[in-house]
Amino acid sequence: MFKPVHAGCLGMADIIDGDSIAAELREDLTAAVETLVDAGHRPTLATVLMSPDPASETYISMKQDDCEELGIGTRDVRLDTDAPAERLFETIEQLNTDGAVDGLLVQSPVADHVDYREVIERIDPMKDVDAFHPENVGRLVAGYPRYKPCTPHGIQQMLAATGVDTEGADAVVVGRSRIVGRPMANLFVQRAPGGNATTTVCHSRTEDLAAKTRQADILVAAAGVPELVDGSMIQEGAVVVDVGINRVERENGESELVGDVAFESARETAGAITPVPGGVGPMTRAMLLYNTVKAASLQRDIDVDLSAVGS
Ligand code: NAD
Repeated sequence: MFKPVHAGCLGMADIIDGDSIAAELREDLTAAVETLVDAGHRPTLATVLMSPDPASETYISMKQDDCEELGIGTRDVRLDTDAPAERLFETIEQLNTDGAVDGLLVQSPVADHVDYREVIERIDPMKDVDAFHPENVGRLVAGYPRYKPCTPHGIQQMLAATGVDTEGADAVVVGRSRIVGRPMANLFVQRAPGGNATTTVCHSRTEDLAAKTRQADILVAAAGVPELVDGSMIQEGAVVVDVGINRVERENGESELVGDVAFESARETAGAITPVPGGVGPMTRAMLLYNTVKAASLQRDIDVDLSAVGS
């Protein structure tokens, strides 16, 4: 049963440290990787980059580095953005049939002339560690997920690690995207640990957003709008999870990374809050590693105990 979190010293919200929670999960995953290697298979993630967005290259490098740190093998495939869509589809097919590859993701966005939906549908659902393929989405919605999308799964694990009980809580999710808002809401309503919350999904057409967010015991902000949610929109003692990553220009000309929550004002009302950076981001990265290890375990039929890391 959800209980409001009492704010820490000076009436300020506790900070939920995603970096340290993720670091613990990564340690457990390192042990799981060793189990797989001892059984004769090194879990391997293939990433494909064909993106016009320069930030995509940074994201891919981070994913590759994360894998290497844990002993997960990598394939790093890069295609010119003006290559024909068929080239990307052939690459996906090669990686789908490559027995050494357990997980496969194509970094979004892809080049404009490529239909991203078709890209997702061509990935083998067993290798779909982003959990974007309709088969994996369908399983999640039906209540028997194979893989959970990394960001909402990371949030679920972060709440569990913080001792936040979602059962019976009023959860409000701001944002209805395919990768964050909707799967987050799906996880919250599941009849399962980390679920059983009464869940509201707000979006760009929601009227009186503040009235909805003020109902939240657990508030997840994933709108991609800098500092959309301030302290006046938060119920006292609520747990606030800030998914947003927005770069904004300040008046002094400097740029800064901010979330979808106005952190300083929210801290005065919330009971606990995730910072940006250092909150949801590291959890998302950890859960991609989790899905890759799980993909290797499922496809190789090698038992590994992942219960401490995810569900
Ligand atoms: P998106 O643009 O696909 O979706 C945003 C959603 O917010 C939409 O459903 C829209 O209806 C809703 N929305 C927009 N303005 C709103 C408003 N004023 N009021 C209510 N709802 C509104 O974005 P996304 O991919 O879900 O990402 C959201 C944010 O999270 C972005 O800042 C993104 O960079 C960040 N993100 C962070 C991580 C992480 O690991 N930390 C992962 C994914 C996305």
